[in-house]
Amino acid sequence: MRDFSQDHDWLSINTATVRKSRGQELPLTEIIEACARRGIRAISPWRDQVAAAGLGTISRLVKAHGLALSGYCRGGMFPATDAAGLQAARDDNRRAVDEAAELGAPCLVLVVGALPGALQGKPAHKDLAFARTQVRDGIAELLEYARQANMPLAIEPLHPMYAADRACINTMEQALDVCDELDPSRKGDLGVAVDVYHVWWDPKLRAQIERAGRERLLAFHVCDWLTPTTDLLNDRGMMGDGVIDIPRIRGWVEAQGFAGYSEVEIFSTGNWWQRDAGDTLAACIERHRSAV
Ligand code: ZN
Repeated sequence: MRDFSQDHDWLSINTATVRKSRGQELPLTEIIEACARRGIRAISPWRDQVAAAGLGTISRLVKAHGLALSGYCRGGMFPATDAAGLQAARDDNRRAVDEAAELGAPCLVLVVGALPGALQGKPAHKDLAFARTQVRDGIAELLEYARQANMPLAIEPLHPMYAADRACINTMEQALDVCDELDPSRKGDLGVAVDVYHVWWDPKLRAQIERAGRERLLAFHVCDWLTPTTDLLNDRGMMGDGVIDIPRIRGWVEAQGFAGYSEVEIFSTGNWWQRDAGDTLAACIERHRSAV
């Protein structure tokens, strides 16, 4: 297992972590500059932040600073109620693949979606099994397009508390079942993003990481689970402030040969987004050394 205690060479910042500084939106251009100044070598940007700044602008800035990407957030949201909705998701996901390729991302992260309309508080139906079928079909179709663009797809299982509205793939086992069905030869272009926040509780976690193996471990996301958690989406903790044994999970992932970045992904309305982004980045660097 790699020693992270002496440097932050393998730290990546998911740009949502500092999307706000002192409660104010921070443009992606400024986030990139702030990371580069601190010797952070990698980021994982969000599509809305890229769109706001312009894809060309961000692509040039990333290359000018010699930054790597540890992923691109995000594609997915496959289920829909009608053909037009499915087509819209298909088109949008293809654009996401193209953007990820332009930015030089190693993978496009997929948050797969769940019951259509649930995110807006108006679920169209209750058939989660059907949503999962649409997700499987959506990934199958996108995979063909992504392969032509040489862009691996990383399915991110989300904690079951999001099963209704954000992702109906909730465990590593489910995600890997889809991978094995759609990519039985393990070509390395379909896999998973292991986010400790979503999967730390799973009694099968270690076994499923071993099942995934090097070919399917495409991204590793870290933050911490606070007790109590006061918000289901935006109360993620800094590494070391909660109950997740992050080094143990990183050990399992690295035992399979994963040697990529540890991507810090923290949504925190009440705490970190209220602080100065520079202080948040400093904390990420410090905790990457001491708690990851
Ligand atoms: Zn994540």
